Formats: sequence, C-alpha cells, structure tokens
Amino acid sequence: MKKISIIIPAYNEEKNIPLIYIELQEVFKKCSDKYVFNILFINDGSLDNTIGEMEKLAQVDQDVKFIDFSRNFGKEVATTAGLNNCDGDACIMLDGDLQHPVELIPEFIAKWENGAEVVVGIRNKNKSNGFFKKIGSNIFYKVINKIAEIEIIPNATDYRLLDRVVVDEFNRLTETNRMTRALVDWLGFRRAYINFNANERIHGNASYSFWKLFKLAMNSFVSLSLFPLQLAGNLGIVITLVSGLAGFYILLGKYFFRTPFASTFSDAENLAILLVFLVGIILISIGLMALYIANIHKEVINRPMYVMRKKKL
Ligand code: UDP
Ligand code: MG
Repeated sequence: MKKISIIIPAYNEEKNIPLIYIELQEVFKKCSDKYVFNILFINDGSLDNTIGEMEKLAQVDQDVKFIDFSRNFGKEVATTAGLNNCDGDACIMLDGDLQHPVELIPEFIAKWENGAEVVVGIRNKNKSNGFFKKIGSNIFYKVINKIAEIEIIPNATDYRLLDRVVVDEFNRLTETNRMTRALVDWLGFRRAYINFNANERIHGNASYSFWKLFKLAMNSFVSLSLFPLQLAGNLGIVITLVSGLAGFYILLGKYFFRTPFASTFSDAENLAILLVFLVGIILISIGLMALYIANIHKEVINRPMYVMRKKKL
C-alpha cells in the first residue's frame, strides 16, 4: 500500500488541532483500502497549548508525528521542516486552521495517480481577506510574474500534494529565505490543479498580517529575480541623463539665450531640486542593495533553517 504523509504547520491552533485530526480520520477511513496515512504536525513556536494537543494525539495514535520548534520560524520554514521529515510516497501540505477542505484529499490523490507529480490547490475566493490583503496580493502577482523567471499562478495555495521525487528534490534546496510554494513552482514537474473554496476560520486568528505578507512579497522579489537591482541602475542612468540635460538647458537659458522659463528659478532652487532628486535615487539604490546584501548575508552565515525542541517521527 502506498503511504501518504499529511504535513500541517500550526501556530496557535490549539482548538483546531483536535478538529482537523477528527476530520482527517474520516477521510483516511474512506481511502483505507488503498493507502496508509500519517500526519506530521509542526508546532511553529505557538504561544498556546498547540504542542500539548499534538502530543496527546501522538500518544494514542502511532501515525501522528510532530516537530516542536524552539520558537516561531514562520510557516514557510515550518512546511519546509515537514517536507524534510516526512516519509510518504506522496506528501500533502495543508493549513491547520481547517481553511483547506480536507475532503478534497482523495481528489489530490486521484490526480497524483493519474500522473501529476505536483497537485496544486487553487483558492477560488477568500471572503475573510481584508481589502489591503486583496489589493496587495493582486499587485504582488502582477509584478512578480513580470519580473520573475518562473510563472507564479495567482491564488495558488500551499494546499499541495508532492510526489516523493519532488520532495527529495525540494530537500536539496538550501536557501533559508524562502517561500515554499515559489520553490515548488521553481522545481517544475508535471502539474495538476484543483479549485477549492476556502472555509472560514473557526478558531483563532489568521496570523499573516498585511505587513508579514508584504515582507514575504519583498523577499520573494529579491530572491526570485535580479530585476529590482537592475531597476535601480537603469533608473540612475535615466535620471542622470534627464537631470543633466535639464541642468544644461537651464544654464544655457540663463547665461546665453535668456529664455523666460529658465530664468524663473533661482540658482539655489535649481540646485535644491537637483540635490533632492539625486538623494532620492541614491536612497532607493542603497535600499535595494541592502535587501540583496541581507539575502546574501543570510545564505552565507548558513544557519540551520529551524531549531527543534523535540520531535516524534
Ligand atoms: N502558521 C505557521 N507559522 C506562522 C504563521 C502561520 O505555522 O508563523 C500556520 C497556521 O497555523 C496555519 C497556516 O500556517 O496552519 C496558515 O496561517 P494563517 O491561517 O494565519 O494564514 P492565512 O489563512 O491567512 O493564509
Ligand atoms: Mg488561515
């Protein structure tokens, strides 16, 4: 029988862990003639008793495993730890807050049996998302698809099934600054898609705030493309050219031809405009460089991606 691992990252989900366990058991029962399942929970430094709930389940069910992070490392790292430590012939990642409908698991498996190596869940609409989160995600996908080397599908979620081959290749990736689904997209492989409606969150709060997502978006711009770096350089060239020509025109107008437009500005004003403009460019460039350097820095120091307090595998 083929083995399927279910990977569930959880941050402050103490009320949801028992619920998702019960829902999963229903699904497992339906497929138990062909597959064996195990569940790998990752407690991402929760502040509540999430780990207690995981341990309780692990004690009574030998197919429940868990990893307990020493602190909050973020969902991207938590799913990575899950992929690093799962043992199924296929792995399915899903959120611990019941927003990813578990009754679709048999469909994921069916697509996999039909030859797909990656099955991606596409979210139809998320009513619970706020205005800024929606606008932000629209802009993010527009921009990243313009500048990144790989296609990133809008509304593709982390609700995914990965074949063993994909998991093994994924585990060779070493960058610490990561977005799991973008890396899975980068890997390629044969894909299939499943559309689903995200459930409302029943317990707890979504912990991905607008700013956390903004940070994630900025990070993926930098780690998936060199465009921002080139942008700063190109902008610098254009602005130097334009301001140079403008300065030249003003000088000519002032001292040689006396055009009316050029003489309405004082020397000090001309200079001030020029300086402010150039300082702006310099700041933008430095900011972008800092992002890249920060990225390089993180990769170079080569810290482990996560630290575990304990685990049951
Ligand atoms: N999560 C996590 N670490 C974090 C934030 C979230 O492991 O730092 C988990 C969370 O418990 C849930 C999943 O990631 O299982 C999705 O998180 P959330 O519901 O906050 O995000 P959203 O539904 O807004 O994408
Ligand atoms: Mg959620």
